[in-house]
Amino acid sequence: MKITLLGTGDSAGVPHIGCDCETCQRYLEEGKHRTRFSILVENDGERVLIDASPDLRFQFLREGIDSVDYLILTHAHYDHYAGLGSLYRVIWDPLPTYGVPNVLDSVFDEYSYLPFPRRFDVEPFEPFEVAGLEFKLVPVHHPPVETYGVVIRDNETGAKVAVTGDTSRYFDERSFEEMRGADLLVADAFVPAEGDYNRFVADRISDDGLEFADKHMTYEGAIDLVEALEPDEFALVHLSHYFTEEHEELADDGDVYVIE
Ligand SMILES: [Zn+2]
Ligand SMILES: [Zn+2]
Ligand SMILES: [Zn+2]
Repeated sequence: MKITLLGTGDSAGVPHIGCDCETCQRYLEEGKHRTRFSILVENDGERVLIDASPDLRFQFLREGIDSVDYLILTHAHYDHYAGLGSLYRVIWDPLPTYGVPNVLDSVFDEYSYLPFPRRFDVEPFEPFEVAGLEFKLVPVHHPPVETYGVVIRDNETGAKVAVTGDTSRYFDERSFEEMRGADLLVADAFVPAEGDYNRFVADRISDDGLEFADKHMTYEGAIDLVEALEPDEFALVHLSHYFTEEHEELADDGDVYVIE
């Protein structure tokens, strides 16, 4: 299976609108972007989109994607579904869309005027087959909204990819076990624990430095998770403008992983 990180930015994206920090200025000068969260999974000639970024149009143009065959939604935050209006423009048949009932209810209540989704409700941990792969939505911790990570298995090759989705460091033990030992772990790493922060940001980093505001992992939290889950490789995403050039091992928009 082939994984393309379409968007590696936080909910505001990098550069932030109107921000004069060093990172945002550098991104502006270089014409670089961290767009909002979306992942493309390709297998057996079919394309599965995990979440629909508000930057979906830009991402599809950048990567030469003309459409997708399936959609999976992890949670009802705008940075994960506000691309549905753009997606609608490139879908000609109702798009099979998978998610847990509460997530699909929240998203489709907001987009009730869009006729395109063909809804498939799945339960947490219930495996479903799409594009020759097995997917599971596993609960994570991202209050106040119900949120899921995604575990993908190729049962022919044994390949496994785990996506934490938006989550704090401390989530459901069963989900933790599902994600263990993946070939690739894609993990939320919202901010570095140490930074040139104002009080508003600094006060929201947990005492152990592993979480931001009880709902995202810090860079340190994500590395701690990587050490606990022991994937072969990992990609840190959902990244804010608080990272500088000194931070290594951060994923970039357009990064591709081929997992056999
Ligand atoms: Zn998000
Ligand atoms: Zn900035
Ligand atoms: Zn979120």
